[in-house]
Amino acid sequence: MAEKKAQKEEEEKAKEKRKEERIQKRKHRDEQKQRKKAELDAKRRKKADERHRKREMRERLLQTLEDSDGGSEDEIQVSVNNCYQCEKPYTSDFIECSNCSRRFHITCISDDYMGNVDGLEFECKFC
Ligand SMILES: [Zn+2]
Ligand SMILES: [Zn+2]
Repeated sequence: MAEKKAQKEEEEKAKEKRKEERIQKRKHRDEQKQRKKAELDAKRRKKADERHRKREMRERLLQTLEDSDGGSEDEIQVSVNNCYQCEKPYTSDFIECSNCSRRFHITCISDDYMGNVDGLEFECKFC
């Protein structure tokens, strides 16, 4: 009888121990999960930071470009590859002013310079 009781106690203890282990294991797992989540969060934050920094850099660059664009107000702001008349890019059908090297679509200036377009000399409306 006493032996049986002792055995039962032993079993109870073993059960208790397994339970304890299970709890510990679960705790450990939860801790790992938490750590992983924290790592992920940190990574995500870092990425967002980088994106933010990149955007700021791009905006600063654009600002610098705008600032350096300069030029006085009444000067026409047309890029070198755009026709000075319609401000659209030209491809092959353009003519260059012999004085200032401004370029125009032939179609854009032909109304005013019909006679000269085919010749070598061309003087634009700015000259
Ligand atoms: Zn044009
Ligand atoms: Zn010109």
